[in-house]
Amino acid sequence: MSSSTSSPGFDGRAFIGGERVGAKSGKTFDCVSPVDGSVLTQVAQCEAADVDAAVAAARVAFEDRRWAGKSPAQRKKVMHKFADLLLSKADELALTETMDMGKPVQYAKVVDVNATANCIRWYGEAVDKIYDEIAPTPDTALALITREPVGVVGVIVPWNYPMIMAAWKIAPALAAGNSVVLKPSEKSPLSALRLADIAMEAGIPAGVFNVVTGTGPEAGSPLALHMDVDAIGFTGSTRVGKQIHVMAGQSNLKRAWTELGGKSPNIVFADCPDLDVAVQKSVGSIFFNQGESCNAPSRLFVEKSIKEAFIEKALALVPNFQPADPRQKGTVMGAIVDNIQMSSVMRYIESGKSEGAKLVAGGEAVQPVAGGYYVQPTIFDGVKNNMTIAREEIFGPVLSVLSFEDAADAVRQANDNDYGLQAAVWTRDINKAHGVARALRAGTVHVNQYDEDDITVPFGGFKQSGVGRDKSLHAFDKYTETKTTWIRIDSPI
Ligand code: NAD
Repeated sequence: MSSSTSSPGFDGRAFIGGERVGAKSGKTFDCVSPVDGSVLTQVAQCEAADVDAAVAAARVAFEDRRWAGKSPAQRKKVMHKFADLLLSKADELALTETMDMGKPVQYAKVVDVNATANCIRWYGEAVDKIYDEIAPTPDTALALITREPVGVVGVIVPWNYPMIMAAWKIAPALAAGNSVVLKPSEKSPLSALRLADIAMEAGIPAGVFNVVTGTGPEAGSPLALHMDVDAIGFTGSTRVGKQIHVMAGQSNLKRAWTELGGKSPNIVFADCPDLDVAVQKSVGSIFFNQGESCNAPSRLFVEKSIKEAFIEKALALVPNFQPADPRQKGTVMGAIVDNIQMSSVMRYIESGKSEGAKLVAGGEAVQPVAGGYYVQPTIFDGVKNNMTIAREEIFGPVLSVLSFEDAADAVRQANDNDYGLQAAVWTRDINKAHGVARALRAGTVHVNQYDEDDITVPFGGFKQSGVGRDKSLHAFDKYTETKTTWIRIDSPI
């Protein structure tokens, strides 16, 4: 709790039953901007009682079918309006994201706002084009296989892409007719609240989309443990994701879907089609979003014969990624989300040094804006796959460079990790590309590129990178129940 001044520009109250409300306890917490350490506003510190109120509002809205009862075409129309309104407020939303979590405003607008609107539009557009099924049964019966909304969906998301992560879940959940209670990260709650305001303006009825703000233990756990929540969509760390599955099992066996961490291997063979492109994409992808991306290619495996040349080219690009004020138009590297995350990144950098990796670029915290949290783009060479910086997700602008002898060695090292979110292979040999892509244990494998992404393809991980997939039509599986209806046919013929 704090008595710091609030900016009139941001409203940190929760959104429950179609209204902005404070926490029942009256408690708030400071929303601190990583850009300069200033307090942006006070945010409602929701707890179990607030979660209960939000779930109750969502339940009533679901049961009276004010949204689920609309035809798919009607829901589609509202979702399109929702997307249009988001785009019309792109500047405001982008600046909110920048001030709240530190990313460069140019990307907040072009990437985050656009992807959020596109996601909402895409699921809205899809929902009146999906047909149910009739099973191939004998003539004496008809079996209909239909999809129904699961009911009340809890959504818990992290801070690195606050709007996009929320959209990947709320869009299919809402399009399918569910009611939603969203808990954004306490580190970046503001854009989620604006999503709810804008959804309501678009015509999503009160109670259908609620947002509770607060910490994980105080607001997230009550949602994951709630007996009246039918499914939970979680994106965040593997540590908390495991707890989500436990909480689902401890309560009502709600469907639990988790999109978790990554330590993605990026394998560059000496015969890659274009070394300059491989270097640009590898460096650009690890430093994008300050390295705070679940799918960042943080373990770079370069074939021995080209490693020196690769490092030299990579080092030449590092000056392009120096952190600067994210509000400025040309900035490519912004602020780390908060002091806690920055300290964690710095501890990993220290562990890299102490375990014997060679720091070849960066490694320091800097302050291009007084009071803010910034880390230089950092590269370690000579990393071994058993070092902490190669095993654990750093979630900051730190690249670990390793090397390998041949394809088998590359795949063995790449797969030797608890995570399995994404991976990449660079080679002009089509057999090697296919063989390695097939052998990599990851939800997405890139060949001769890294940053391709689209709402049309599933996103999620093998192993401890989570359970289930966001995006694409597959995401509907998470927020719908499959029902079989048998109808006896006593044919008069
Ligand atoms: P986090 O796990 O600390 O927090 C995520 C969310 O869970 C937050 O809203 C937090 O308040 C909540 N939470 C924390 N403790 C909780 C508890 N006990 N009960 C219920 N909720 C709780 O993760 P983070 O630091 O916000 O985000 C970074 C992580 O997210 C990284 O591991 C990253 O890889 C992962 N991530 C994964 C994907 C993906 O699609 N796979 C995408 C983005 C981020």
